[in-house]
Amino acid sequence: MSRYLSNPIEYLKGVGPQKGDLLKKELSIFSYDDLLRYYPYRYIDRTKFYKVNEVDSDLQYIQIKGTLTGTQMVGQGRAMRLVSGIRDETGTMELVWFQGAQYVSKALKPGQEYVVFGKPTVFNGKYNMAHPEMELVTQVDPEKLTGYQPMYNTTEKVKQKGFDNKSLGKLVKTLMEGLGEQDIPEILPPRIVQQYQFMSRYDAMLNIHFPADNKSLDRALARLKFEEFFTIQVKLLGLKNHRQTQRGGYVLEKIDNYFDTFYKKYLRFELTNAQKRVTKEIRRDVLTGKQMNRLVQGDVGSGKTIVALMTMLMAIDNGFQAAMMAPTEILAQQHFNTLTDYVGDLGPRVDLLTGSVKGKERKLILQDLKEGKIDILIGTHALIEDTVQFANIGFVVIDEQHRFGVAQRAALWEKNDRPPHILVMTATPIPRTLAMTLYGDLDISVIDELPPGRKPIQTLHYFESKRLALFGFMKQQIALGRQIYIVYPMIKENEKLDYQNLMEGYESITRAFPLPDYKVSVVHGQMKSADKDAEMQRFARGETQIMVATTVIEVGVNVPNASVMIIESAERFGLSQLHQLRGRVGRGAEQSYCILMTGNKLSTDARIRCNTMVETNDGFVISEVDLKLRGPGDLEGTQQSGLLDLKLADIGKDGNILQEARFAATQLLTDDPKLQKPENLPFRQYLASHYKHSQDWSVIS
Ligand code: ADP
Ligand code: MG
Repeated sequence: MSRYLSNPIEYLKGVGPQKGDLLKKELSIFSYDDLLRYYPYRYIDRTKFYKVNEVDSDLQYIQIKGTLTGTQMVGQGRAMRLVSGIRDETGTMELVWFQGAQYVSKALKPGQEYVVFGKPTVFNGKYNMAHPEMELVTQVDPEKLTGYQPMYNTTEKVKQKGFDNKSLGKLVKTLMEGLGEQDIPEILPPRIVQQYQFMSRYDAMLNIHFPADNKSLDRALARLKFEEFFTIQVKLLGLKNHRQTQRGGYVLEKIDNYFDTFYKKYLRFELTNAQKRVTKEIRRDVLTGKQMNRLVQGDVGSGKTIVALMTMLMAIDNGFQAAMMAPTEILAQQHFNTLTDYVGDLGPRVDLLTGSVKGKERKLILQDLKEGKIDILIGTHALIEDTVQFANIGFVVIDEQHRFGVAQRAALWEKNDRPPHILVMTATPIPRTLAMTLYGDLDISVIDELPPGRKPIQTLHYFESKRLALFGFMKQQIALGRQIYIVYPMIKENEKLDYQNLMEGYESITRAFPLPDYKVSVVHGQMKSADKDAEMQRFARGETQIMVATTVIEVGVNVPNASVMIIESAERFGLSQLHQLRGRVGRGAEQSYCILMTGNKLSTDARIRCNTMVETNDGFVISEVDLKLRGPGDLEGTQQSGLLDLKLADIGKDGNILQEARFAATQLLTDDPKLQKPENLPFRQYLASHYKHSQDWSVIS
């Protein structure tokens, strides 16, 4: 970084120590460089003025010119607010301030001409603007009215201390005036700049703050987004290369004992083509002499467990131990049950180690493990702790719900000189672009086919008004011998309310489905784990027909006879969770149903979520929609990965740029794996400074 840009922010003209502290604390702007990369979140076209009668709810930020009407304080206490209006020849729109009302009311001059900007919203059937920015027409800088004005995120605190959007813009302007081209040198390899006809880095920085025009803004965005993705991809692919070239891996050559016997005699069904393909991909990996790092993606029910088992058998055939890690104890227990059932009397010893295995039993398992008597150990993440010692671990399966970030995985791989082969399985599909980033250092396999004979689950969306019809349908299904889940949302912030909701639901169900004809189970988070299990077992044995539960059943027991999943207040669930819950049914031979119950008023997003569920059973499609709706930041596990620290690029919307960046990164590393060519040095240096804080996985720098 240039000397100019590394200056502390308080040195900038117009900042000083006090305001400097505020910028540091509130906006994390510590240096000139931080301010330079404090990009606007949107731009206002200052050449366009809207009329009051043109305002509609689709509009983002707009500006209106007119006369300020009188101001008035309305409401009491916390509801107190300042109300005013802006009037032009087509009408008057209300303006409102909830915070700093006193201060604003003193500053405003009713009767004067103003330019107002903000985002119109609908309130009580009328348009208004909350906390608009105001400028007296006489004070508007005419130069500004010719182009785009940047809008910067601020906080209320910063605003009250006099740092609104306008003054932030001014600071950036001051910063830019002292900035020369030498302060923002090119970092991308020249060949890439040329190939994509990128704007220079310096021009991109100028235009991202003060776009000359629409086209320049687009070009600046395209370049800077590419740069963000490219940096991550070079890092990830570098990690991958490093492992593949520097690290030996065990060769698992033999498959003539457990693997073959299992395949020929114990496998109860024909593998799907997708399962066969993925097993072959893994087989190929473990013969190369390099450490395998592979991600297997597959929808709920696509049969990932059997693939995990068969590949673990390859390791055992070659004299190694294998381990399988699950994110929760319940899941670990479930894997243990499934795997012991699959292997039957074939022979390898399978054990379970979780937090609830204690005392003598635990000691014995640890001892046997160390002596190599255990072949497959199943457990939670605790398996990789130092106290758990294997005789010769050769293969690790991580069954996760994207909770393990790249950093943690890297830490795991760093444990040994010769690390075990690693197979990561996702619990639900994730979009391709997200996988490329979250798991960009892994090879990816996809099981894109469900075992044959499954009837697609039929999904219906009912409003509350159809509850009677729903009860009728439930009775029909029970008469056919089927069982039913009813799931209530879990409210983390308010467990009491959560419990109350569930219990009210339970009571209304027992009224509609009374004894002795009907028996209803209930399971919730406040029950003891033994009671929960007992109640689940009762349902699994078919002693009760209805299971009322919170989302604890998401990872619960497998009940093939349950063919109806009713999700209450479905609007409160995320898409991937809805899909996961739906996956609880459709496991038997019967036609299964998923019914989404919602109130009549739905937000646009909730409506899209329900419609998507009704329209498709494809987990990959669902994950794409989910990513678009929520953005990657809200998806589970993406936060801690540290990889998605993207300022401009958006994995959901900029997938094509990401693909290009990955492609370019691959080319670069093929041509110059260690970035030693002179033309690549600037980028290598940039990469080193960019990742200097993430030591855990800075294998290359
Ligand atoms: P997931 O991918 O969700 O972990 P599982 O491994 O739990 O899926 O498999 C779901 C169910 O499908 C299990 O009951 C399993 O035994 C069964 N199954 C897996 N593969 C096949 C197959 N090729 N043919 C028939 N049934 C299969
Ligand atoms: Mg599974």
